[in-house]
Parts: sequence; structure tokens; C-alpha cells
Amino acid sequence: MYKAPRGTSDILPEDQPYYRYIEQKAAYTAQLYGYQPIETPVFEDAGLFIRSVGEETDIVDKEMYVFKDKGGSDLALVPEGTAPVLRAYIEHGMQNLPQPVKLYYFSSLFRYERPQAGRFRQHHQFGAEAIGDDDPALDAELIDMVWNFITGLGMSDIILFINSIGCPRCRPTYLEELKQYYSGKTDKMCTDCKTRLAKNPLRLLDCKKESCTPLVARAPKSSEHLCRECGEHYNSLKKYLDLLAIPYTENPALVRGLDYYTKTVFEIQPQGEKGAQAAIAGGGRYDGLIEVLGGKPTPGIGFGSGMERIVLNLKKQGAAIPPPATQKVFVAYLGSGAKEKTLRITAELRKNGVTAIQSLNDRSMKAQLKQAGKSGAVYAIIIGEDELKSNSAILRDMSQGIQQTLSINEIFTILKTK
Ligand SMILES: [Zn+2]
Ligand SMILES: [Zn+2]
Repeated sequence: MYKAPRGTSDILPEDQPYYRYIEQKAAYTAQLYGYQPIETPVFEDAGLFIRSVGEETDIVDKEMYVFKDKGGSDLALVPEGTAPVLRAYIEHGMQNLPQPVKLYYFSSLFRYERPQAGRFRQHHQFGAEAIGDDDPALDAELIDMVWNFITGLGMSDIILFINSIGCPRCRPTYLEELKQYYSGKTDKMCTDCKTRLAKNPLRLLDCKKESCTPLVARAPKSSEHLCRECGEHYNSLKKYLDLLAIPYTENPALVRGLDYYTKTVFEIQPQGEKGAQAAIAGGGRYDGLIEVLGGKPTPGIGFGSGMERIVLNLKKQGAAIPPPATQKVFVAYLGSGAKEKTLRITAELRKNGVTAIQSLNDRSMKAQLKQAGKSGAVYAIIIGEDELKSNSAILRDMSQGIQQTLSINEIFTILKTK
């Protein structure tokens, strides 16, 4: 027996309304802010992520699905959404368009992670990138969009964390300070943090282990070691968020997992949940990234939001999802003459935009009505020998159990007006 690969899941019909609802809200919100849709391939040159995300990161080092195709090219299933969009921006000369270029996307992301609640090897993301402007008002606008998207879904009790992690000018001094602070405390640190201290000190602040949280709490803060430009950017961002009445909490331990972030980083989490696991949306500025990928120096900012985690939280909060708009009609028959007639009627209903389910296989009327009830049909149209002779049909209101015999034309008029 085959099963879906470990860490993946099927999105069954009963969960589809959640995904359609999120996609609809996402596209609607993105377009309100002037974002246009883009789609990029599910696999890319593996080098794109080695260059952008960084060779030393977990994503590239441990989690990326890499493979050689039959032509010998090194490819990777896309592990994060930003690099492909930036690749497309450079490849298609979008730097010649009015800036910023604002793009949103839905994509499947693949990471070989240890499967656990809310973490998948294939997950779906809504994301957006605003490329070509370094104004902190753009950061505030993007955060405003994400905030309105999440709250617009009906989600409450969420919290927005922001931080600034500086730029290549001010970060090295800060990292030195951080290393100095931690180097005297190795006996109190977890093993992962000992590696981080040597390899990627910024990630020390990401540690959620109980032994390390008191160390994180007293660690030097990046927002207090910013150069003048980064400091002004951060202050303006906060001013603009106040202006837009977006409530935020400064979180000096927020660094995000990716090497390429500069200045602004942010995350939205449900209240009372902790850790990177809990984030339902997050992103940041990446002013050096386009240059790293071979483009002209171009600033940018983006975010991503995991749809599986949003669904999980919508269910947890019991948020109301709008039901599918279509009302179904079930078409039942008795006898072979009636069957032929109903096949034509069903086809005609569909041409008129009515969702119709045709009964098949000559079942008993009792079985057909039972199926009609289970199908969620609002009406059943029933044709037997008598109705066939008189060119009529029975229209049954499934919720009330009331039925009447009408001409086919009358039934079409009723169904079309509903
Ligand atoms: Zn700086
Ligand atoms: Zn630790």
C-alpha cells in the first residue's frame, strides 16, 4: 500500500474551503496594496539557494531536496520563496520598471525537516516581495498588508514582533559584542548554541532551550548597536507603524532564520505561543540580496506566510469559513426511459450554471434519495414512469422534505432564480 511521503499530506475536499478562503483573501489584500501575481517553477538551479540562503544554513545544509536531472544539472525543489522571485526580477529586467516592483505568489516549498505538528516537508506559502526601494514606509506598508491579511481572515489574539538586525556596516561590531557576551558562558549553553557561537552567532538569540533563554534575555540587543542609517530606518519604521495604528512589540531576540536579512525583521504569532514554530507570517528586508544574485545593488523587502499553519490556527480559533457558494441539485430517476431524460436534464442544468449530480447505476429510489441527502443537495429532481409520460418532474426540497410535481420548464425557472 502506498502512502503520501512522510511529512507530506493530502489536502482533502473538506479542508479545501480553508485554502480557497485564504487564497482569495490573500490575493484580494495583495492587490489592494498594488502587488501583482507571479509564478515561478517548483524547482530551480540549486546554486540559487546556496548563494542566497547561504551554505552554512540548515535550509541548504540539511533540508534542501537536491537532485541531478538526466541532463546533469544540479537542481533543488524550492525551499523558500524569495530567491526565485528575485531571480525572475533580475532575469526579466524588472529593474527597468517603475520601482518598487511589487509581486505576490503562492508556492509549494520543500524542506527535508523532521515532521512534527505544523511542520511539513511540502508546505504551501503565500508570500510577497517589494523590490527596488529602501524607504522604511515600504516596510511599514508591507507589514500593514500582512497584518490586514491575517486579521481579515478573522484571526484574533495575534502579536506582531519587530526588530532591526542592522546591515553589513554595523552588524560585525554587534556580532563581536554578542560573541564576547556568550564566550564566557559556554558551560551554561546547549550543544547547538556552542556550534552557533562559532558558526552563526546571530542564531544564538533564536534558541528556545530552557537552559539558554536566560542568556538570550540578557544578551546585547542588535537594535542598540545600529549604525546611524539603520537606526534612523528603524525609528522611522516604528513611527510609520504608529501612524497606521498597527500594534507591535519590539523583540530583540527576533533574528529570523535566514542570513540575507538586513535592518527590518518581523513575525506575526498567535498570542501565548512561542518559537519560530509558532509564526504564521514573517519576513524582512534584504538590501544586499539582489546584488549577491548577480543583479545591480537593489534594496527589497518581503514576507512569507505558511498556509498550513494559518489553517491550523483558524481551526483552533473556530473561525467561520464561508461555505461554497454553489447549491447542488441531485437528479434521480426510475426506469431506462427516465434515465435518458435525466441525462439530458442534468446536462441542461449545468449549461445554465446549476451544479448538478446525476444519479447512476439504476439504484432504488430510497438509495438515491439517501445519496441526495448525503451529497448536500438542496433540491432533488425525480423522474419516474409517470413523470416521463406527462413531461413533468418532481422537485423535492431536501431540507424540508416537501415535494411538488411541475413541468420541466417551471423547474428550470425556479432553479435559475435560486
Ligand atoms: Zn547599519
Ligand atoms: Zn541554546
